Amino acid sequence: MSNESLANLLKEERRFEPPADLAAAANVTAEAYEQAKADRLGFWAEQARQLTWATEPTQTLDWSNPPFAKWFADGKLNVAYNCVDRHVEAGNGDRVAIHFEGEPGDTRAITYAELQREISKAANALTELGVQAGDRVAIYLPMIPEAVFAMLACARIGAPHSLVFGGFSADALATRIEDADARVIITSDGGYRRGKPSALKPAVDEALTRPGTENVRNVLVVRRTGEDTAWTDGRDVWWHELVDRQSDQHTPEAFDAEHPLFILYTSGTTGKPKGILHTTGGYLTQVAYTHRAVFDLKPETDVYWCTADVGWVTGHSYIVYGPLANGATEVIYEGTPDTPHQGRWWEIVQKYGVTLLYTAPTAIRACMKWGDDIPAKFDLSSLRILGSVGEPINPEAWIWYRKHIGGDRTPVVDTWWQTETGAIMISPLPGVTATKPGSAQIPLPGISATVVDDEAKEVPNGGGGYLVLTEPWPSMLRTIWGDDQRYLDTYWSRFENRYFAGDGAKKDDDGDIWLLGRVDDVMLVSGHNISTTEVESALVSHPKVAEAAVVGATDPQTTQAIVAFVIVRGNVDSEEEGLVDELRAHVAKHLGPIAKPKRILPVAELPKTRSGKIMRRLLRDVAENRALGDVTTLTDSSVMDLIQTRLPGAA
Ligand code: ATP
Ligand code: MG
Repeated sequence: MSNESLANLLKEERRFEPPADLAAAANVTAEAYEQAKADRLGFWAEQARQLTWATEPTQTLDWSNPPFAKWFADGKLNVAYNCVDRHVEAGNGDRVAIHFEGEPGDTRAITYAELQREISKAANALTELGVQAGDRVAIYLPMIPEAVFAMLACARIGAPHSLVFGGFSADALATRIEDADARVIITSDGGYRRGKPSALKPAVDEALTRPGTENVRNVLVVRRTGEDTAWTDGRDVWWHELVDRQSDQHTPEAFDAEHPLFILYTSGTTGKPKGILHTTGGYLTQVAYTHRAVFDLKPETDVYWCTADVGWVTGHSYIVYGPLANGATEVIYEGTPDTPHQGRWWEIVQKYGVTLLYTAPTAIRACMKWGDDIPAKFDLSSLRILGSVGEPINPEAWIWYRKHIGGDRTPVVDTWWQTETGAIMISPLPGVTATKPGSAQIPLPGISATVVDDEAKEVPNGGGGYLVLTEPWPSMLRTIWGDDQRYLDTYWSRFENRYFAGDGAKKDDDGDIWLLGRVDDVMLVSGHNISTTEVESALVSHPKVAEAAVVGATDPQTTQAIVAFVIVRGNVDSEEEGLVDELRAHVAKHLGPIAKPKRILPVAELPKTRSGKIMRRLLRDVAENRALGDVTTLTDSSVMDLIQTRLPGAA
């Protein structure tokens, strides 16, 4: 990157005040910022006291060996007890914890009391398989209740879990099993995907033929689809045979606050996945607090739904640990948003009266593409807060979300965080912040983040550079599993004493933070740094565009030239005469001539990681006529063939 700061191009003037009734009854008010500013550690100690500890911590942060943090180090607690048992003990055993909706339409309502029994049985079963505190358990499951039971059973016995997303291949699974040295794998015969059963167990069988996976003793298999499954006697065990015969009583043991809770591999948008290690007390403190603050959760009345997969960090923190620690009632849905029809999500919102919805920009843009008339067919009036995570949300997608899903009434909270941060870091508070479409705005109470230039100097309002976190936070990663050096090199060597997030950002005139995408995705055009996010947002602000991905391709005149790939909205013909010129002119008008794409290619799909993020490096390979790089974390590699066939016609 050059020394010149990121171009600060896009201007956004729209503001949305919090609804008065929400503000008046909000869980967290403006005072929290003041309180945390006056005594940051005291603030977090107070949040930690919302949990139930077997031994209350007397220490808050031990930062004597930075950047290796210890939070609440002399405290002891059990995560599963906090997520389940304590709600039952408080008299809320009959409250529904999980409304499960299978893709084929099968449903199951699981109360906190049932959850306690299921988890106790699963914990007893793991113990029978010889799993002890500290042993790693790999979990490779679809979005079914057993995924939650398995995670909480591991937490209950102190066995760190490592979830591998069910869409990953045998190779990806094998690497993760080897890296974590897992002893047991929990999987299923399969799950339902796009109207059909889709097998999972064969990938486990294949992974276990790879060198490095020899330490796996058992494979615990949930029966979901009932399809025939190959079986290795002595190693494979059916969940319904082993778990169902266990006692539903289990006494949770308290673990040290720094006991490892899980390892989770980052999604691999940029390179070899990193095994991010999270621990117990600080993690649970921050996921519970942020879930209560950002979603204003009222456990007696809200119905919360996070559409992520449990295999991603969003699923860990905001399907399992945060909501359940807070005693929430939540929806878990197994399938895809367009099975059997494109209104499935909105049908689920209507059916369960969902009040709080948390999803990703990629899903919002897909719904924009399918058309406004689809959500309009459903009653979405129960919704009161909408959240977004995973990528920068284009202002027009934000507005669409608020208007067509939120009835022009609900706050939209754009939450910035990472696998590494464990919990939300930068986000509006729905009862406090006047929101701005496209901006995550300000660090939450107790969190210190800013934007710095190449020399690590904080940029003034209006400036751009790199997002950094300037103080340790409770749910921070403790290291990269087995590789402290990579932890230091990746996050702590770019700037002294500051956590380098790898994302570009700018501060607007009010000091609000705008995320501009990954630092690797910033383009250099004729001496100007231009963010891919801003050009994409300008394209999405055109009424004919639903989604856009922008890359910088090497160019002899301008260093890099802007190449844009766009998906048009449902009612637009992508071959339409003059469309490309119209879009180029639109970007020039919004951002200035410097940001005008040299080429625009309408495409049917964009390459995405399995968590739904656009993989710009592959588009850069296409734009520069290179052989494609690693495509193993791509959802659908045929997308790239389709895009490449579009190339000759483009100019
Ligand atoms: P890898 O690190 O392996 O390349 P990844 O970064 O995609 O994978 P995650 O930890 O799931 O894996 O994603 C975190 C990243 O997602 C952030 O660093 C940021 O780039 C992006 N992101 C998440 N939420 C937001 C948001 N609200 N606004 C902008 N960007 C976001
Ligand atoms: Mg990352």
